[in-house]
Amino acid sequence: FEAIANPGIRGLRAYDPGHDLVALRRAHEGVLVELGSNENPHGPSPAATQAVLETLSQLYRYPDPLGGDLKRALAARLGVGISQLMLGNGSHELLMQFAQVFAGPGREVVASQFGFAVYALAAQAAGAPLRVVPAFARGAAMPRGHDLDAIAGAISPQTALVYLANPNNPTGTWFGADAFAAFMARVPESVIVVVDEAYAEFADAPDHASALVLQPRYPNLLVTRTFSKAHALAGLRVGYAVAHPDCIAVLERVRESFNVNMVGLSAAQAALGDEAHLRWSLARNAEQREMLAAALRERGYFAHPSLTNFLLVEFGPETQRIEAGLIARGVVLRPMAGYGLPECLRITVGDASENRRLLAALDEVLA
Ligand code: PMP
Repeated sequence: FEAIANPGIRGLRAYDPGHDLVALRRAHEGVLVELGSNENPHGPSPAATQAVLETLSQLYRYPDPLGGDLKRALAARLGVGISQLMLGNGSHELLMQFAQVFAGPGREVVASQFGFAVYALAAQAAGAPLRVVPAFARGAAMPRGHDLDAIAGAISPQTALVYLANPNNPTGTWFGADAFAAFMARVPESVIVVVDEAYAEFADAPDHASALVLQPRYPNLLVTRTFSKAHALAGLRVGYAVAHPDCIAVLERVRESFNVNMVGLSAAQAALGDEAHLRWSLARNAEQREMLAAALRERGYFAHPSLTNFLLVEFGPETQRIEAGLIARGVVLRPMAGYGLPECLRITVGDASENRRLLAALDEVLA
């Protein structure tokens, strides 16, 4: 089937979650510490859980194909028009559709080294050439982060689409308002710029800025966000894009009619309304992230600066042994060899008890 698949699909590899979590959960009987997928262990708003229960009597119906209630809530929250919003079955679906719509053979995609893996996948699946721009080197102010200057310089007449992530996964790195404004000023209007802000709610540093601020000035700027991370609804698969209404209108042509499920729509709307829960969750994450980074530093490991709910940590030549030792003790992290970072592991910031168990297991492995 390789030979008869579309050319872009040939040579692609299916999504690899790193580990068989179901088998690991069975082996560790409910005590597995899962810090591999950047989920939010503080859980969703109780209002979202309640909203889920309330949809259960309606499951025989199709969901609202327009997602009207959620879009109205998002529009009010973000200060944008409803026609500027598109909902996705997770932001992953939207990221794939951007390439399907705007890139293709002869219409190149540009992304950064160590950028989120879906960008390369989206380009390949669309049959588009991919240009990967080197990230900042170790020792730079933002090691492994996006080099926006170099990315702008790599844009050619063939470029159709640029994917940026702010903050980025797996590096946790970010860029600020000035750098991004300078970048956008260099990008031709015919090139679509996607800023993936899956982790933006976590990013509280003054030198981080959302691309939403510049969106009204640049019709070619698309911003994606998700309910999977800060809102802790990964299991329900709801993401959204903010863009120019004309851009949304084109993207809507390829959206599967009922792409976002009914349970997800209502839970996301309820989660959006519970700001107190969000603030509580973000504060817990920030506190645990700093604790974990400090604890790793004490053990001699460098955790890259992060404004997210995960840390990229340098474990050196021992990385594989450490990862295997942690798995044997029921602690799952994300190996980074697939990203070209074989001496790093990505650690999702857990809750206090998960982080304690991770550190205890690490101390055992290192003993
Ligand atoms: N963008 C980034 C940078 C991510 O890390 C992820 C999830 N790991 C996504 C997008 C996709 O998230 P979802 O499909 O759950 O919205």
